[in-house]
Amino acid sequence: METKYIFVTGGVVSSLGKGIISSSLARLLLSRGFRVTIQKFDPYINIDPGTLNPYEHGECYVTADGHEADLDLGHYERFTNIHTSRANNVTTGRIYQSVIDKERRGDYLGKTVQIIPHITDEIKRNVKLLGNTGKYDFVITEIGGTVGDIESLPFLEAVRQLRWELGQNCLCVHLTYVPFIRAAKELKTKPTQHSVKQLQEVGIQPDILVLRTEQDIPMSVRKKVALFCNVSPDAVIQSIDVPTIYEVPLTMHGQHLDEIVLKKTNTPYSGEPDLTRWNEFLAKIKHASDYVKIGLVGKYVELQDAYKSINESLFQAATYNDHKLDLKYISSEKLTDGNVAEMLGDMDGIIIAPGFGQRGIEGKFVALKWCRENDMPTFGICLGMQCMVIEYARNVLGLAEANSTEMDTKTPYNVIDLMEEQKSITSMGGTMRLGAYRCRLASGSKVAKAYGTNEIMERHRHRFEFNNEFRSQFEGAGMKCVGENPETHLVEVVEVPGKKWYIGTQYHPEYSSTVLHPHPLFMDFIRAAIANRDSKK
Ligand code: GLN
Repeated sequence: METKYIFVTGGVVSSLGKGIISSSLARLLLSRGFRVTIQKFDPYINIDPGTLNPYEHGECYVTADGHEADLDLGHYERFTNIHTSRANNVTTGRIYQSVIDKERRGDYLGKTVQIIPHITDEIKRNVKLLGNTGKYDFVITEIGGTVGDIESLPFLEAVRQLRWELGQNCLCVHLTYVPFIRAAKELKTKPTQHSVKQLQEVGIQPDILVLRTEQDIPMSVRKKVALFCNVSPDAVIQSIDVPTIYEVPLTMHGQHLDEIVLKKTNTPYSGEPDLTRWNEFLAKIKHASDYVKIGLVGKYVELQDAYKSINESLFQAATYNDHKLDLKYISSEKLTDGNVAEMLGDMDGIIIAPGFGQRGIEGKFVALKWCRENDMPTFGICLGMQCMVIEYARNVLGLAEANSTEMDTKTPYNVIDLMEEQKSITSMGGTMRLGAYRCRLASGSKVAKAYGTNEIMERHRHRFEFNNEFRSQFEGAGMKCVGENPETHLVEVVEVPGKKWYIGTQYHPEYSSTVLHPHPLFMDFIRAAIANRDSKK
């Protein structure tokens, strides 16, 4: 069948969950046997979010092919179980860069280069890139930002043109917000009407409206929205708050979102989506009664989205282990030898978070020393793993001044050091060691048992590495290097055997945990945390 393009735009306010709606629709179409991919177009000038502070944009997600991407791509993968790539996330910066490169090459043959048609053509070319591979029946494109922003205009113009060109192979879903005014006890549809009007002004008539709401929207109100916005009443769907984002595919299917999309795009279909395994996961969420308590030690503790993929990986692993997740953020900046027992003592397992730079680093060492000495199941991820190594060097190897050269360029014991290939790099954007690399695990190690294999591929995002010159000292003192890159011999996993669970990974396993395939290492860590909790009873 010809590829169908579905655009998802948002209005009224940001953070309505366009990514979750896009992912849910993808899940439903996949569960009906269609081939689907989701891509995100972000209207900011940065080439990618790799250089953005988490305070600006939450977590930076990394695709297997080494692209630093918007965190919505994490949702796409968690819901669909399909790898995304560099092609799935395009920014205004990337579009302009490519147009300017073409202009410098002389590709425009003396023409004046303009937003229309050159920028919009480049957007359209990128929108169709994945569709043109012939691998997909549906390409869902989420347009970042909110309708009405100056930045979004070229993207909306490209969508307008594509709708015209693609006819029935194209569809627009617009997500808006319906606030409930408590004093008046009324749901208000005016912001939705205005936002649809703004879309219409740029020439786009939405086919489907999804209304985010905290209260049930009665049929009469939906009909009113339909009437004002030129949308059929059955295509006005509500997205009401649910206990977990993983229920959204069901609430969307309950209102026939998938069928409406299939009908409107003239796609033949029959029967129902097969959501058996998805429903099993949801049932597990509902039926779990015991909690497993995990402490996440990091510096962005006040930010919901900074450790998004770790949260979700822990949640999935806890759910599959029939437990509810009680996740507590612990600010590494506040940890001291005096309060660490009180702050961590109550936990069943500890995660030491990834990160960059000096802030909060000493607190991570305090946490790690306490965890190691008190045999707390502990999982260090990326910077967390590097901190495990440094703490071990300082307190077990007796190298008090051990450090990473990221934190102290003059340390005499550079147990974590800049990778050789990083030494000549001066530019910050997209230059880390990024994406999936092979790793060989030592037979008999806890990690190899957890994975059930010795050969794995995991995603990376870092510049610094375990310094192999110290390897024998660490191994002699009990910290084993149990995972290494078969080509470069870079150490990717350390483990202290004999402990309940004390493992650090240089890679980020959280990027590849999905609802249908929870990550084996998070599963094993949660099992160890539950066992630790039960042993205290
Ligand atoms: N700052 C460390 C490095 O660059 C770790 C990065 C991370 O935790 N993602 O190596």
